Amino acid sequence: MCSGLPKTALGLRIRATLSEKRMKPNLKGLLKEELVDFFREMDEPAYRAHQLMQWLYNKKVSSFEEMTNLPKTLREKLAENATVTSLSIQEIQRSEDGACKYLLRLSDGELIESVYIPDERRRTLCISSQVGCAFKCRFCATGKMGFTRQMDASEIVDQIVTVNRDLSADERIGNIVIMGMGEPLHNYKNLLKAVRLMVDESGLQIGGRKITISTVGLVPQIDRLADEGLNIRLAISLNASTNRLRSRLMPINEKYPIEMLIKSARNFYKKTGNRLTFEYVLIGDTNDSIQDANQLIDLTSSFPCKVNLIPYNPRKESLYRPSSAAVKNRFYQQLQARHPYAVTLRRSRGGDISAACGQLGIRPNG
Ligand code: SAH
Repeated sequence: MCSGLPKTALGLRIRATLSEKRMKPNLKGLLKEELVDFFREMDEPAYRAHQLMQWLYNKKVSSFEEMTNLPKTLREKLAENATVTSLSIQEIQRSEDGACKYLLRLSDGELIESVYIPDERRRTLCISSQVGCAFKCRFCATGKMGFTRQMDASEIVDQIVTVNRDLSADERIGNIVIMGMGEPLHNYKNLLKAVRLMVDESGLQIGGRKITISTVGLVPQIDRLADEGLNIRLAISLNASTNRLRSRLMPINEKYPIEMLIKSARNFYKKTGNRLTFEYVLIGDTNDSIQDANQLIDLTSSFPCKVNLIPYNPRKESLYRPSSAAVKNRFYQQLQARHPYAVTLRRSRGGDISAACGQLGIRPNG
């Protein structure tokens, strides 16, 4: 529909300017080969693509004007013919444990969250891939929001650029977990483009092994990912070891039940040689018995993988509660004793600012 601007000469002029603006390509989010084409059309050499990407992804500038190793005439031409979008920081909440939750505003006003998690060894950013989420996992705060829209590749990578710019000069994000709001494999095309920009040496220069995609378990997309030739890590949210319970907790299990998922996971391992991680959120009196532990071991022992136990993080209105410390340890010990592969118990960060797994969700009082 029209913007509601008055039908005067001025209104028409404003409308024309707006549509011109919309026509300008956003250079952030374009792959290097796309930028090379863009510059070729402007009769510029291919190395301009590398120069521009350095500015977009690795330096603290936000306008063409500031890109000082580009000729002035080119900078002016770029400003006329293209745009570069940026996320804006709406709010930052700092946890007592050092994690920081960034509330970020997209260009249409939608809000998403990213969580910065530094520790002794690495600086990790947990990023979002969609505004909201369509999968309605019963225990997850984002699932309750419902799905609003896909994020484009520039919005996905810009979370990293924005937080890097906010950090001090000696800090830089070296590890990415795509475990924030949304289901990354439900936004496959944009996500893959964003990942390619993360690993590109002209882009964010983050090694594929330092990038983890966490999925609710979309079998066709996992199979497709196995053929992409990207050396990234995959985590699958299993969360239950029977179809009955998994379907109750994660409705997507009706479509892709456990046997199908494990088969697809095995195929991923065979094709890529990368060990994937099965994530298992420990929920009090729901999936944390010794029988659950034994079934989980049986399910995940047939090919090399890892199991990551995640203590359940409640929110005010949660239906579920965390396992007690004793039950959590008993479950962990049982896996440690019997599982042939690595088992870890995740130390949750940012719980005091609702930045932990499954707590991301934008609500007025959330
Ligand atoms: N959609 C993706 C990524 C987002 S959720 C996925 O499902 O994997 C990231 C991880 O947080 C998943 O393993 C999910 O099972 C877990 N999670 C969701 N809600 C949680 C909660 N309340 N407490 C702990 N972990 C939770």
